[in-house]
Amino acid sequence: ATPLAVASGLRDALERGIVIANATVFESAPTVETIVFDKTGTLTAGEMTVLEVHGDEEALDLAAAVERRSEHPVADAIVARAAAERGDEAATSTDRRVASDGGRLESETDDGPNADIEVRDFERHPGEGVSATVEREGAAPSAVGSDHGDEARSGDRVVVGTPGLVERLIGPVPAALEAAIDDARDRGRLPAVVGYDGRARAVVVVGDRTRTEWRDVLESFADREVVVLTGDDAAGTETFRDHPAVDRVFAGVPPDGKVETVRRLSGEGVTAMVGDGTNDAPALAAADVGIALGDGTARATDAADAVVTSSDLRAVRSVFDLADGTRRRIR
Ligand code: ADP
Ligand code: MG
Repeated sequence: ATPLAVASGLRDALERGIVIANATVFESAPTVETIVFDKTGTLTAGEMTVLEVHGDEEALDLAAAVERRSEHPVADAIVARAAAERGDEAATSTDRRVASDGGRLESETDDGPNADIEVRDFERHPGEGVSATVEREGAAPSAVGSDHGDEARSGDRVVVGTPGLVERLIGPVPAALEAAIDDARDRGRLPAVVGYDGRARAVVVVGDRTRTEWRDVLESFADREVVVLTGDDAAGTETFRDHPAVDRVFAGVPPDGKVETVRRLSGEGVTAMVGDGTNDAPALAAADVGIALGDGTARATDAADAVVTSSDLRAVRSVFDLADGTRRRIR
């Protein structure tokens, strides 16, 4: 081996925001035949925002209380929106108080968003969503919400996730919400269903933008097989399915299924996986070459051979270019 070639490869990588966790990447990357990209957070920016909420008004706060425990991009979007709405409400009611009692300011919002909703028995349902039991401090023992019969009762299970998860754990999705789900999917959005008290109660429509450079990156791998792998259902993958640079799309794949898919592809030929350092760690570890997008924290570097800390997806291409260059210098 020539340690100098490797050392300079490591240095060039660092300059491009790439941490090489396992120097064998320089040997293995050039031999990769199939390259698998995770969708959410990899080909898409993973910075999701809530676009609209259909159904029960209180559902957003209940969903946010549960999602606070999750690191999923959908969870972040829901928590941020609930906080923003709480902030707006507080501002409005403060304005009203100022107007009515002659300038005296009272703050009732020091506790921050959702401080009155307690959550216990939080559970993750990988690739499907999350659930928890909600309690609201100071609420009447019978009700979390306020004035009509539909609200979650204190101690109710709240589920946030795919329609299938809510149906399985809580109950049916009413026709009006079903229509909101279909409509969201038709527009390439992600519908997060909120269920409690026997049925789906709301649909939170979340949007994520694809990274501007995804086409360039996938097209640059024209000489290899390009695969897109996602837990999302097929409706969310049309943009990629329709693109000529994409050879295969696997949609609706749960986290265990991702690992299995990568293993199977790896049995057919040398396979690289590009994914999110946290959620996709097992699939990254199963690949011949695992490339994590992330902040270079221990969890990502454990599972991956290279970690791309740059927010530009073109750094994934650079991993392969650097490996080609380094291998040439080694030989
Ligand atoms: P991907 O494979 O595209 O990265 P995931 O496997 O992380 O997606 O999740 C698959 C689907 O499960 C998401 O599209 C979403 O509908 C649902 N989901 C997962 N986690 C959550 C969560 N915390 N809250 C709501 N929905 C979730
Ligand atoms: Mg992902």
